[in-house]
Amino acid sequence: MKTAFSALPSVDQLLSQPAVMALRERFGHTATVTVLRDLLAELRSALKSQPDTPWDIQQLIARCRARMDAESHNTLRPVFNLTGTVLHTNLGRALLSRQAATAVQAVMETASNLEFDLDSASRGDRDDHIDRLICELTGAEAATVVNNNAAAVFLLLNTIAMRKQVIVSRGELIEIGGAFRIPDIMARAGAKLVEVGTTNRTHAKDYAAAITPRTGLLMKVHPSNYAIQGFTSGVGEAEVAKLAHGHDLPFAVDLGSGTLVDFVALGLPKEPTVQEAIAQGADLVTFSGDKLLGGPQAGIVVGKKELIAKLKRNPLKRALRVDKMTMAALEATLHQYRYPELLTRDMPTLRLLTRPTAEIQKLAERMLPVVQYALSGHAQVEIRPGYSQIGSGSLPVGLLPSACLAITPVIKGRGAGTALKKLADAFRTLPRPVVGRMEEGALLFDLRCLENEAEFMSQMEALTL
Ligand SMILES: *Cc1c(COP(=O)(O)O)cnc(C)c1O
Repeated sequence: MKTAFSALPSVDQLLSQPAVMALRERFGHTATVTVLRDLLAELRSALKSQPDTPWDIQQLIARCRARMDAESHNTLRPVFNLTGTVLHTNLGRALLSRQAATAVQAVMETASNLEFDLDSASRGDRDDHIDRLICELTGAEAATVVNNNAAAVFLLLNTIAMRKQVIVSRGELIEIGGAFRIPDIMARAGAKLVEVGTTNRTHAKDYAAAITPRTGLLMKVHPSNYAIQGFTSGVGEAEVAKLAHGHDLPFAVDLGSGTLVDFVALGLPKEPTVQEAIAQGADLVTFSGDKLLGGPQAGIVVGKKELIAKLKRNPLKRALRVDKMTMAALEATLHQYRYPELLTRDMPTLRLLTRPTAEIQKLAERMLPVVQYALSGHAQVEIRPGYSQIGSGSLPVGLLPSACLAITPVIKGRGAGTALKKLADAFRTLPRPVVGRMEEGALLFDLRCLENEAEFMSQMEALTL
């Protein structure tokens, strides 16, 4: 045992090996020495309990390289989203356009005029980069940007309605993805929620009866992710706006997704646009940057000049402001809306949502034999029709027919569940993980969002089952 210990190389001896010198070049002295010390300590303790544990210097070095490689990988990395949900919050929501990515790249590594007015050589405002563009596109008077739409709603309520009452229809007191609930946000922002109407029906007279001298705001919230059907009645934006303005009160709309284009014209389910909300008399409208807009995570507030100015003066704005990368991506994204015919080609979100089913079907037919071959003996693969979802709070209605690869383990009955889980694990541990969805004993890959076919196929041989 003693001889086994004394035969172990020292850290200095290992450092003089050419392969270790290369690691030192890549990762520096400190990190290399730390890993070498750890490996030697592990080996020493293994030899203590198992004196005949085999080892040699080359194996030690290979382990050192493998560990340093593994530790240097980012945990945040690209995946294939084959879940069928185009705007998948857990998978990063909207994919930026090439134009937006290029704009981010351009300001990332060099200085920029983020808050510097190049005409007057004086201090500028970061919102200036998007203000004119958004106003041109939406018909609003002014705009400001914060980190996400939750922050936009929060800033709005805190600025306009602190210690005041905010009237909202009961049917619009929604929860979006767990942590965002309108009543909670309202309480945190210091506003007092006044619910009017019932879950399924709210009338103009309900709003009118709730207005008191303590009212600070009337608000409508787009009930993005659910719909009330049957005996229902709501009050339109124009009517609530009229009522609010009749009492000298502001009216705000939280649109959530807030697209700038007519979805029906694209063959998609109707979505209210920001332009409509402004035209119907909303004084402030909030919406997300990375939902249907197809840009970076951001919360955009548009509306009346003096109200936007008030929002910008709130010290919270400083805590919620976006960085230069978001600004660059957002400006480039908004720019694209000036050329509407190109949107379904150049804006990934709109391109994927409008991708023709026949094209997805053809892709499935090309992929079927490759995936079948990779899984032979383990699973059966077939093409199955399915429906993709828009996601991120848009209505979960099956209006986007798609094509899926359905993967079913060959083992039936007992053990089928474990086999299915193992298949899904194997796809998730590929160099670029593949995420699908489970449905009735099968692993489904909805191919709507698969654009990089070659990369997907080339990974198939790395699949370990
Ligand atoms: C999604 C959504 C939000 C939250 O937006 P984030 O950008 O995710 O913060 C708020 N309100 C509505 C109506 C939404 O749909």
